[in-house]
Amino acid sequence: MIYNLKEYQENVKYLKSLGKKVGCNLLLDPIVLENLEIFCKVLFEKVKIDRVFLLIPKPRNGLDVLKYRFKIIACSIRWKHLYVDDALNKVITENKYEDWDNCCHYGLDMFSVNFDGGISGCSFNPNKEFYLNEPKDILKAKDFEFEKRFKCPYL
Ligand code: SF4
Repeated sequence: MIYNLKEYQENVKYLKSLGKKVGCNLLLDPIVLENLEIFCKVLFEKVKIDRVFLLIPKPRNGLDVLKYRFKIIACSIRWKHLYVDDALNKVITENKYEDWDNCCHYGLDMFSVNFDGGISGCSFNPNKEFYLNEPKDILKAKDFEFEKRFKCPYL
């Protein structure tokens, strides 16, 4: 939550004066979804943030993002640096929460390494597939066959 927009804007301005790109994560909830255009307008046009990443909460807790599908798509057309996470992308492109026609990116084009060396297909999986004991073990992850997921168990 942006509790002090002015201060936030000043911090962004400072970082940008150092030549940095500034992005922010926007966790979706009913208020953000209802007012998505306003949030985007303020972040992109007033605060001058470079990139905004929409994140669907996991667990979704009944949040019906599909109801706002066209609004999310319209905003992503209007602001080209508005991005969505993979789960949200699946939900809005496949128009459903499960039985996706195409698998998500779980362990496909990236994988997650936990602080203790635990490897899983994405950071939401608490059950690690295996652990790195030494740096070269990272090569094992390259060849590891992660299960394909056609539904997100964390939504
Ligand atoms: S399983 Fe992981 S990668 Fe796949 S949609 Fe869910 S959170 Fe994203």
